[in-house]
Amino acid sequence: MVPPIVRRFVAGEDADAAIEHVRECNRDGVAGILNLLGEHREIRAAADADARAYRRLIEALEEADVEGCVSVKPSQIGLGVGREAFEENLASVVEVGTEYDRFVWIDMEDHTTTDATLDAFERHAVETDGGVGVCVQANLKRTVADLERLAGLPGKVRLVKGAYDEPAEIAHTSRAGIDGAYRKALGYAFREFDTVAVGSHDPGMLSLAADLRERYGTDYEVQMLMGVREDAQRELAAEGVPTYQYIPYGGEWFAYFYRRVRERRSNALFALRAILGR
Ligand code: FAD
Repeated sequence: MVPPIVRRFVAGEDADAAIEHVRECNRDGVAGILNLLGEHREIRAAADADARAYRRLIEALEEADVEGCVSVKPSQIGLGVGREAFEENLASVVEVGTEYDRFVWIDMEDHTTTDATLDAFERHAVETDGGVGVCVQANLKRTVADLERLAGLPGKVRLVKGAYDEPAEIAHTSRAGIDGAYRKALGYAFREFDTVAVGSHDPGMLSLAADLRERYGTDYEVQMLMGVREDAQRELAAEGVPTYQYIPYGGEWFAYFYRRVRERRSNALFALRAILGR
C-alpha cells in the first residue's frame, strides 16, 4: 500500500487507483499523463512485463472513458537490455495507443539515452503522424541542435529543465545557466513548432510561455507533476490553457517520493509535518 504521506505525489499502487485520480483531475479540467513507476530494467522479461502493463493501461483508460494518456521511460521498457528490446516494446505500446487514439509520451532519461530516444520518437512520430511526444531537457547543450531536428517532425515536444545531474562539458549546471537555456529553447519552440508542451512549475517560464503564445499564436499546453502547484494547474485549466498532470503510480514509489522530498525544502517540510501529524 502507498502510505498516505506518499499519496500527494503518487496516485497508488495499481492502475485502478491511477485512473481514479485521472477522473478527479478531469473534474477540474485537467487531463492525466500516467506513468508506471520503474526504470533500468536489465532483463528482457521485466521490460516486456512493463510494456504489457502500459498496453493494458491504455485499454483501461479507454474503458474508463477518462481524459488521459501515458508516458513511458525508455530504460523501463528495454533500453538497458538493448535498442532492439526498447524499439520492439515501444512499438507495441504505440500500436495500442494508435488503436485507441491515446497519445504516448516518451520521457527523457540521462544523456547516454538521448540518441536512442530521439531516434525512436522520430520513427513513431512519422509513422503515427503525430501520435507520440518526446521530452527534451534544456540543461543539455545539445538540445539547441535537437530542437532543430524535431521542428520538422509531427508529434509533440515537452520542454523541461532536466532532472539528471550531467557533466559540465555537455550540460548547463548552474540554475541561471539552465533557466537561460530553457528561455531560449522555449522561444525557439514557440517560433518553429506547431504546438509546445511546457513541462515546468516555474511561474516565470509559464508567464513567458503565455507571452510567446500572444506573440506567435502557437498552441501550447502546460504539464506539471502530481502534488506540485495543483492550484496553479486548476487555474490554468479554468483559463482555457490545456493542462496535464503527470501522475506516477505503482509499487516502486519509494525512489520517486524520495526525489520529490529531496529536491525542495517545502516538500521536505510537508513530509515532516505529515510524519509529526501536524
Ligand atoms: P524549478 O527550477 O525546479 O523551480 C522553479 C520555480 O518553480 C520555483 O522557484 C517555484 O516557484 C516553482 N516550483 C517548483 N517546484 C515547486 C514545488 N514543489 N512547489 C511549489 N513551487 C514550485 N525531467 C527529465 O529529465 N525527463 C523527463 O522526462 C521529465 N519529465 C517531466 C514531466 C513533467 C510533466 C514535469 C513537470 C517535469 C518533468 N521532468 C523531467 C522534470 C524537470 O526536468 C524538472 O526537474 C522539474 O520539472 C523541476 O523544474 P521546474 O521547471 O519545475 O522548475
